[in-house]
Amino acid sequence: MSELHIGRMYWPTTVADVRRYAPLSGNVKADVAIVGGGMSGVTCAHELSRAGMDVVLAERGEIAGESTTASTGLLQFCNDIMLTDLSNQIGKHPARMFYKACRDAMEQLAAIADSLPYEIGFKRRSSLYYASSEQDLPKLKEEFDALSACGLDVAYWTGDDVAKQFPFRKPGAILTGGDAEVNPFRFVHAIAESAFEQGLRIYEGTDITSRETLQGGSHRLHASSGHHIDAEHVVYAVGYEPESLRGRLIKPSFGRTFVIVTDKQRDLSRWHDRCLLWETARPYLYLRTTDDGRIIAGGLDEAVREPLLGGQSRQSHNEKLLSRVQALFPDLPLTADFAWNATFGESQDNLPFIGEDPDWPNVYYSLGYGGNGTVYSMLAATLIGQLIDGTADRNPIKDIVSLSRATLKER
Ligand SMILES: Cc1cc2nc3c(=O)[nH]c(=O)nc-3n(C[C@H](O)[C@H](O)[C@H](O)COP(=O)(O)OP(=O)(O)OC[C@H]3O[C@@H](n4cnc5c(N)ncnc54)[C@H](O)[C@@H]3O)c2cc1C
Repeated sequence: MSELHIGRMYWPTTVADVRRYAPLSGNVKADVAIVGGGMSGVTCAHELSRAGMDVVLAERGEIAGESTTASTGLLQFCNDIMLTDLSNQIGKHPARMFYKACRDAMEQLAAIADSLPYEIGFKRRSSLYYASSEQDLPKLKEEFDALSACGLDVAYWTGDDVAKQFPFRKPGAILTGGDAEVNPFRFVHAIAESAFEQGLRIYEGTDITSRETLQGGSHRLHASSGHHIDAEHVVYAVGYEPESLRGRLIKPSFGRTFVIVTDKQRDLSRWHDRCLLWETARPYLYLRTTDDGRIIAGGLDEAVREPLLGGQSRQSHNEKLLSRVQALFPDLPLTADFAWNATFGESQDNLPFIGEDPDWPNVYYSLGYGGNGTVYSMLAATLIGQLIDGTADRNPIKDIVSLSRATLKER
């Protein structure tokens, strides 16, 4: 197990206290056992518990302690892979189905946020996706046409439109409606607590080291403590660490990415509707604001898996990121109060891995690689629920995200 993030994280400082759960201390049985207590595992546990299943969740460390706490909490139905590129990759109709499913997942996330016992920083926001250069403009226009034709809530902004609403000018942009921002740490803790109150069993400090198929087809998960969990169904929601389990199946590429959170700003009135910002360049710079007036910015992705340790190099990355934000908002007096960098996984075809193991019946994966991990967690929770109750044939993205999909075999 390698470190997934390093630095001064912001989200844990926004929560006075979180509920803790005792480790597994005996053998237990359930309908479903979920391995991993990040965004993916907890969202799945919440949905399956709500559907009436008896669910156990085992987390090696602490709930929301790994990639989830590194997330910047932008929730968007648009993906790292643009709709036009996805259409070229898998065909126009499936690509549209996938984008619409992401839009629907946004609504499901909003409904969950509404139902939670405390405030989790969930706010509906628009996103401004701007052309980083004049050369990107034709591609941006093509993307706008594709999103409009798909019936998604989009508007095209000219360079003048951008300059009227922000202190910067860009050649053009797409404004998408229906996105959101969230505090991912609070969100996952609130979902976990809410499901726990309704019967979900959660075990922190419980490392699952192996799985065996029992006679009759059910599964036994062995924990390093020597105890085990027996379940009809198993969901692996282990984030960026699946190789030790099934490296043969899944070959994502890993890199690292950087985040800063600024000090509180008094005047963000030149930031149109506090919308989420991102751009056509790859890797992209992305920005959002927080409830208390901070700016969160991320980017500068590098093709190295391990987080950057050296203090001096980290400092120079943080300064670079800050100067990019400052270039967009030159009048704001910005300093970085928090900064971290973290491992980031992307699948070869930019789609998440969700579905049943091709070889092991009733073993499922919720691996939401890419910048849209939260939306993918929601897609996974829905699809895995349907796979378990036998209604997945009606899910239009089942084959698009499956672990045996053609786009993975071709590479
Ligand atoms: C810097 C950064 C910024 C990001 N920004 C965004 C964003 O703005 N919006 C967005 O949607 N996504 C974003 N993401 C992606 C998002 O963070 C991830 O997709 C999401 O958190 C993944 O959740 P997860 O539950 O799959 O993984 P994790 O949060 O890593 O959870 C997996 C859990 O499984 C546990 N585990 C692993 N193996 C075992 C085992 N054998 N036994 C028991 N437990 C085990 C781990 O301890 C871990 O807690 C970002 C990611 C990074 C790194």
